[in-house]
Amino acid sequence: MNLEIQTTTRTELIDITDSVRAIVKESGIKNGICVISTPHTTSAIIVNENERRLRVDILGMLETLVPENKSYAHNSIDNNADAHLRAVLLGMSEIIPIEDGHIILGTWQRILFVELDGPRNRNVNVTIIEK
Ligand code: ZN
Repeated sequence: MNLEIQTTTRTELIDITDSVRAIVKESGIKNGICVISTPHTTSAIIVNENERRLRVDILGMLETLVPENKSYAHNSIDNNADAHLRAVLLGMSEIIPIEDGHIILGTWQRILFVELDGPRNRNVNVTIIEK
């Protein structure tokens, strides 16, 4: 299944947990795994708490580790090397178990799409494998 996401700023975190839960429910699969992946080189999928100040801190961490305004080789192509490098650090997918028809997440865990070079139209693929 494909999820379409319209992002609105250059960098942001978007909670897609409810959409993933709906896809798992619709699949009718009771036990297995759910793979959430993004096919873009400047976005990522992470699992963490969706709390406003933490979202600010995560983006701040990325700016500290991979500053936006630095001289990168790739910037001579399309000026978004920082977005690619941040995507490398975060990764393009997460795998979550499904038990009794529900994805297994901790109380504070949410599935977050990370936009690193928006605003853009983005896709997220949700692949469910039955056990
Ligand atoms: Zn690029």
